[in-house]
Amino acid sequence: MKPASPLSVAPALVPWEFAGLMLTYWCNAKCAFCYVYSGPDRGGRMSVNDALAYWRGLRDVAASAGKSMRIHLSGGEPFGDWPHLLAIARAAHAEGLTRDGGFEKVETNAYWARDDDETRDRLAALRDCGMTMLVVSADVYHQEYVPFDRVERCVRIARAVLGDQGVRVRWWDFVARPVDLRHASPDEKRAAFADALQRHRERLTGRAADELCDFYPGQPPEAFADDVCTRAVLGGRHVHIDPYGNVFPGVCSGIILGNAKEEPLPQMWRRLSAEWRNHPIVEPVVRGSSTALYDAAARLGYETRPRGYANKCHLCTHVRQYLFERGGWERFVGPADCYARPTDRSVHRRDVALPVVQ
Ligand code: SF4
Repeated sequence: MKPASPLSVAPALVPWEFAGLMLTYWCNAKCAFCYVYSGPDRGGRMSVNDALAYWRGLRDVAASAGKSMRIHLSGGEPFGDWPHLLAIARAAHAEGLTRDGGFEKVETNAYWARDDDETRDRLAALRDCGMTMLVVSADVYHQEYVPFDRVERCVRIARAVLGDQGVRVRWWDFVARPVDLRHASPDEKRAAFADALQRHRERLTGRAADELCDFYPGQPPEAFADDVCTRAVLGGRHVHIDPYGNVFPGVCSGIILGNAKEEPLPQMWRRLSAEWRNHPIVEPVVRGSSTALYDAAARLGYETRPRGYANKCHLCTHVRQYLFERGGWERFVGPADCYARPTDRSVHRRDVALPVVQ
């Protein structure tokens, strides 16, 4: 029998198999490419009890489809409160949640890796809780804030503790040719960002949408209408849960599918599976990409950005910023830590950059 064409298959929510627990929005850095709005001025703290409840619920969602759940711990910067990160890892391990690769990885920018012994002790403690991989962020954006010798130390020691396969760096090509941008001029930063964007496309949500959008040629809202978001919001098998319990589709931070503090995750998954067409953000982006969301927001008074949009996620984020500020969308668009504040705009540093990435 001929297999069904993908176009003939009705969109459906697939079971979640990967999830990130965002322990906090706090971060020592304010990277231009951040897919939320993390920084020293943002916060939130996922309690140990909440983390365990989410971990169990996610495990049950995957198990109900005969799958395994793989959890990663992220932020913000999860090492910002090391005793708390370790407490969550130990509690999950003690309950057997980390078995069989269930504790996939921790993501960090390595700012805390100031000392060999302390770095080794921390990574060994996480390994002993079942963590299989450390992912270290290293790129022109993080190296505006983090001394590169800490990245080198963290990667070197992580390889010794976890093995070569237990360390991933985002991006390895940057590690081969690192640059330190902590004291660079705005022009030097712009040039470094433009060069990096030629090699790695970044997801333009959160701060990245504001700070990196004008490195790309602006396009009108209708340019993205055919690039629907079915895979990203329904088919990605991946969610993030933030410190307040908000559940986001994998890479679509700031689109709230539900709140895990209020609704057990297996129940949430079943509800969304049956009712995702009632979600006022998910339904339009699946039907007609962020262009359809734009159309809905325009009817509410949203004004088109004169310089256009870098891509569909930039348009989506720009529209959601409007809905967030307009109010009344709290169940679907939020929290504040994913969106710009007026003070963020006043320090917008790259709005004179010319489009350079084709
Ligand atoms: S346009 Fe919006 S919904 Fe679609 S992938 Fe981008 S952030 Fe997610």
